[in-house]
Amino acid sequence: MGYEKEELLEGIWQIKDEFNSTSTVVVGKEKAIVFDTLMGSGDYLSFIRTITDLPLTVIISHGHYDHLGGCYQFKEAYMSFEDMPLWEINKKNVYTFEETNKVSLPNCHKSLDEPCEFKDLKEGMIFDIGGMTAEAVSLPGHTKGSIGLYIPQRKTILVGDAVSPQMCLIMDGVQYIDVYRDTVRKVQNMDIDTFICGHYMNLFKAELLEKIYQATFAVETKKGFPYTYPNVPSYTGTMYISEFPGPDFDDFICIIVNDKAINKN
Ligand SMILES: [Zn+2]
Repeated sequence: MGYEKEELLEGIWQIKDEFNSTSTVVVGKEKAIVFDTLMGSGDYLSFIRTITDLPLTVIISHGHYDHLGGCYQFKEAYMSFEDMPLWEINKKNVYTFEETNKVSLPNCHKSLDEPCEFKDLKEGMIFDIGGMTAEAVSLPGHTKGSIGLYIPQRKTILVGDAVSPQMCLIMDGVQYIDVYRDTVRKVQNMDIDTFICGHYMNLFKAELLEKIYQATFAVETKKGFPYTYPNVPSYTGTMYISEFPGPDFDDFICIIVNDKAINKN
């Protein structure tokens, strides 16, 4: 299967599969962390073994199928139990994904039908992997249980889908837009130089976070366009483009919202 890998910072590898899902492998001196497990389309564990032989701790950024489809290869994984209500919806969405992409992902189903042992991931938990630590940081918005990993030794944070230059607030589990704004501010206030997002191979500079924050106001100031998520067409919303490609990001910066994201209740 087509995996792509790149060492974005010393010991921090970003891996992408053929469906544009990503996973990050953080290699310490004694252990390694696998942050998200891709779609389960290939033998990801063997691919990880081309990077490190160390014992692995698996941590899932949030409860969407495209981040946990490879969990069937592991005995246990950490994920916020706040996202467990998404479990059954995931099963349906994998069938839809298979239909729209004309693929078969039996192992992604396996990860959902016979889940590995899940442990609750909570804000403040620290994973010491030798020479590096990863601290769980709660980043709600995309989902309630979205969690990032702050790595102070590299002044970076892995955010999954919780903060993104092309932000999606249209999937199951989405929170009110103010919750997301607070999350972006929370990341901005951390001692970081860079951040790493799900679905990108980029190492983003922390300065881009202000543009990502400002993009949330495009909902009020810009004209929106109807948007349908191609993998799961039942996810629809309105896309607001905040900024066109520039030196910080070679694609446009936008936010996509549905009614749940913009109507407080
Ligand atoms: Zn997601």
